[in-house]
Amino acid sequence: MKYSSQLIEQAVQAFSKLPGVGRKSALRMVLHLVQNDRLAVNDIIDSLTIMNSDLKTCKRCFNFSDHELCEICRNSSRNQQVVCVVESIRDVIAIEETDQFHGTYHVLGGVISPIDGVGPSDLNFEALFNRVKDEGVGELIMGLSPTIEGETTIFYISKKLRESNVKISILARGISFGGELEYADGLTLGRSILTRTSYVHLED
Ligand SMILES: [Zn+2]
Repeated sequence: MKYSSQLIEQAVQAFSKLPGVGRKSALRMVLHLVQNDRLAVNDIIDSLTIMNSDLKTCKRCFNFSDHELCEICRNSSRNQQVVCVVESIRDVIAIEETDQFHGTYHVLGGVISPIDGVGPSDLNFEALFNRVKDEGVGELIMGLSPTIEGETTIFYISKKLRESNVKISILARGISFGGELEYADGLTLGRSILTRTSYVHLED
């Protein structure tokens, strides 16, 4: 045991299980709580306990939810006919933070990756195809990473939905803002030329 208390040791061990938290940061957090903020300990315990018991998965889009349907699916001011297909809930959070998308989502839970043993039956495809069929979805935006696995997944979805009228779009793939053209990889640059878009003059 490194410390004079087994209880501190246990708390440090528990905190160091979190991603990106080593023993040093874990110890700093634990000492902060016991020395300066004992009340926060109860808040942390309460919020984590209730999250652990009550957090659900939205039965429609597979996002985190407090109810059967998540806040986004229940929000009538969002366009329920436009669905952004993403790999994980972290992607939903990233897109939501841009404040630019007002449709809904569908979380696949991964992408097709034969090398990792992930096939279509491991992902939330059936529910997606049912949504397209039953809910009159007009557009699916493929919010997937531009990787071989992402491409394979997009190909699979578009093949499965070939008979439907749904419009399938992919995210614009281009040069990152602040990036230098000459350093962009050839594939990105080539696709950026092919999928160029009209310049939109935004009034200030
Ligand atoms: Zn939902």
